[in-house]
Amino acid sequence: MAKDNVDLICDISELAGLFEKSHSLSDFLQSAVSIVAYHMRSAVCSIYLYDDQDETLSLAATQGLSPDAVGRVKLSLGEGIVGKAMQDLRPICEGHGSSNPNFKTITGIYEENYEAFLAVPILLRGVMRVGVLVTQDPQPDYFHSNDVKALRAIASQLAVVIENAKLLMSLREAEEQLGVDRPLEELPGQPAFFKGASASSGVVRGTAYVLDGNSYDVLTTADDDEAMPYTLEEFQQALQESEIQLTDLQKRMDEKLGDVASLIFNAHLLILKDEGFSGAMRGLIEQGTPADRAITSVVNDYITLFAKSKNPRLQEKVLDVKDLGHRLLRNLQQHGEDEGDYHGQIVLAKELVPSDVLKFAAQNVEGIVIVQGGVTSHISILARSLRLPMVFVEQDTILELDEGTLLLLDANQGTLFIDPAESVLEQYDALLNRVDEEKEHAKPETYTRDGTQIQIHCNINLLSDLEFARENLAEGVGLYRSEFPFIVRDEFPSEEAQRLIYERIFQGMPGKQVTLRTLDVGGDKKLPYHQHHDEANPFLGLRAIRFSLQNRPVFKQQIRAMLRAGCDKNLRIMFPFISSVDDFLEAREVVLECKAELSREGMEYNENPEIGLMVELPAAVEIIDELAEEADFFSVGTNDLIQYLLAVDRTNESVSNMYVCHHPAVLRAIYRILNAAINWDVDVSVCGDMALIPDMLKFLVGIGLRKISIDPQHIPQIQSYLEELHTEEARRHARSLLRFGTLREVNDFLEQMEARAGHSPEAG
Ligand code: PEP
Ligand code: MG
Repeated sequence: MAKDNVDLICDISELAGLFEKSHSLSDFLQSAVSIVAYHMRSAVCSIYLYDDQDETLSLAATQGLSPDAVGRVKLSLGEGIVGKAMQDLRPICEGHGSSNPNFKTITGIYEENYEAFLAVPILLRGVMRVGVLVTQDPQPDYFHSNDVKALRAIASQLAVVIENAKLLMSLREAEEQLGVDRPLEELPGQPAFFKGASASSGVVRGTAYVLDGNSYDVLTTADDDEAMPYTLEEFQQALQESEIQLTDLQKRMDEKLGDVASLIFNAHLLILKDEGFSGAMRGLIEQGTPADRAITSVVNDYITLFAKSKNPRLQEKVLDVKDLGHRLLRNLQQHGEDEGDYHGQIVLAKELVPSDVLKFAAQNVEGIVIVQGGVTSHISILARSLRLPMVFVEQDTILELDEGTLLLLDANQGTLFIDPAESVLEQYDALLNRVDEEKEHAKPETYTRDGTQIQIHCNINLLSDLEFARENLAEGVGLYRSEFPFIVRDEFPSEEAQRLIYERIFQGMPGKQVTLRTLDVGGDKKLPYHQHHDEANPFLGLRAIRFSLQNRPVFKQQIRAMLRAGCDKNLRIMFPFISSVDDFLEAREVVLECKAELSREGMEYNENPEIGLMVELPAAVEIIDELAEEADFFSVGTNDLIQYLLAVDRTNESVSNMYVCHHPAVLRAIYRILNAAINWDVDVSVCGDMALIPDMLKFLVGIGLRKISIDPQHIPQIQSYLEELHTEEARRHARSLLRFGTLREVNDFLEQMEARAGHSPEAG
């Protein structure tokens, strides 16, 4: 019977569910080895678990070897093929296990009949040792590169489940020891943990703050019959306290997130000061309504009004008004003791808009869990840039959790633990300390093994990314996505507002090259306050530079802000979505016009910015030589280039399997771009995510790329990869890849490469 790797991977992804049904970790591991052995059609499958205290591996489950060896067989790090795989953190695949110098005979477990040997380390986050997954078979040379790949995929799934399982087991043990007669599965209607998708990484603990499922419901006071007779003076005081708090919040927000924070709390302030709002409350109180009832009544009128509106921006204001109502009531009842700070709390919500995420971040929330649905990718991008752990889960029962329930959010793995025991929290702390210790530290410059320098610049979405960039020693900003401040506002940001944001980027990266990209809106990025035309195909519509060229005043404002902020700085201005030399020249002309204007106005500005473009459309590849003649630099936007070359929507899940960066058409297009840039001596970098994939990065270096721009959090890991790379090896790799005309050949080649890496002693 043939091996069934695909089914195997599918089955294993159900392991989390399997674990919930198991009574113990060993039960679960035993089921896992049975599944793997069945699909691999291998005689043996075993799992060894690693104990990092005494650095040993012990056999935890097996199918095929003697069952009484479980718990008895122990190997130290480096001992036998299994210990060696764990020590070197790499798979070892042997056609004849006994011929491997590390082979060790263990008597009494009946493994001498099994010649073929495949051992794959189980690693958490790619570095932390969890154990080793082993398959064996009597038939020599039984395992191939596909099996290595399949077991690797399984091992990474297993790592998460085992680590969570260990935590949960210790939680169960701890509860049993404490004699708590409340089994986990019977926690008030909830399982002990929820598994979801990570939107932004990090591990935090905190108490639950549930934004009720119906955030759009009306505001209620504790009990309508027990309205307290607060006076008009007390109401006025609450109003004043709210105003002071909101002004202060806005100030803190501006300091922390100057680019996107604008006006978030100002919306609250404006409503608060509106006579129709606070005036109506005052009127009711003067007529004898108790102050808390007056607040609730007016707030609810507003909620109904906004909720009915067809305009989504006004609908969003429901949350603002409700928030404001809560603040007023809090201040009335507690006289400003609670300032609406979410420190120590994890928010559980059905839906959030970007401004809510910003608001919670400014109010020091620890993390956010969102029930899937209506989630836009912008929320994830924002959360990542804010370093705010965020997970999407599917079960809306989380919204029924009691306020104040203790939570542990492991957003690295997408897991939310409910009411974890102290022992679990301690283990997590230990885990985090270890990860911190193992964190790699970046160096200011990067050289390959043969001494070739590769510059690593960074992509910046929000100003808060600059902190990552500095920490990880980015050599410059290769791409600033200037659209974010535009997307989260209620109106076009003024020239002055933009200038201040761009200045902060230069201040954050003193002396470094900074590439500011002009507005890239349209496609899936719409400005809520601008009347975008209805477009059947927005990705092929009035996007990016096309939008700017059609909206000259907006474009000029942005260019002027860039030129002014970049005075005496290493400024580069970059146009996105260029499809013709004509568009590029027209856009460059606008820069010249703005310089002339600024000069006439006697303003200080950068007189000589470099002007370049994103190469992200097939048309630009076709005319790359002509563009090279005109442009100061190119930045290859592989995210879009792949989408437009292959006609595969980068945001459409149902065609995501066709979005492949190693497609021969993509590789050849990038090769042409690089060649033109080198021939014309035009500075070139890659700012799309392709540079994060090791095989592709090797290809890019092989065709002569010497500069990349990536999200700053990836710098240490990419730098380590480049330091191990030899440019000659990269050149050979690229030459081979460029020969292939079919995806199948490319796939086979990459698989062979991976298998070879699995065998080579230096492979990681
Ligand atoms: C790209 O297209 O590769 C790119 C970097 O730009 P964005 O992801 O902002 O479209
Ligand atoms: Mg792009």
